[in-house]
Amino acid sequence: MQSDDHIHLISNHNVTPIQHQQEKKPVIGLPRSIINSYDTFTFDKNKIATINNDYDTTCSICISDYKELEILKIMPQCRHFFHQSCVDTWLEVNASCPICRNSLLQASNDEPNLESV
Ligand SMILES: [Zn+2]
Ligand SMILES: [Zn+2]
Repeated sequence: MQSDDHIHLISNHNVTPIQHQQEKKPVIGLPRSIINSYDTFTFDKNKIATINNDYDTTCSICISDYKELEILKIMPQCRHFFHQSCVDTWLEVNASCPICRNSLLQASNDEPNLESV
């Protein structure tokens, strides 16, 4: 008797790893068009002080210090900013600011998924 345990283990190259989702809410990110519409700027210590007096020199997403000439993206509502690459990734799955949790999904489109507060 041959046991039929010859199972092909297919490499899961196209399976997106599912993170532990303790919340039932589906992941809601921002549409690309909105993410792309946010202002970006090149990190410059002098210039940044004019944008936000209380600025942080560390990206809250990757916990790295900003370096001169890095491209940052600023949230229009709360004026927090992050590395562009970091926040782009973040906003694809979170429609809120990583720092203040300010929702960025306001009347910008017709998604009626705002829970009543
Ligand atoms: Zn970063
Ligand atoms: Zn913020």
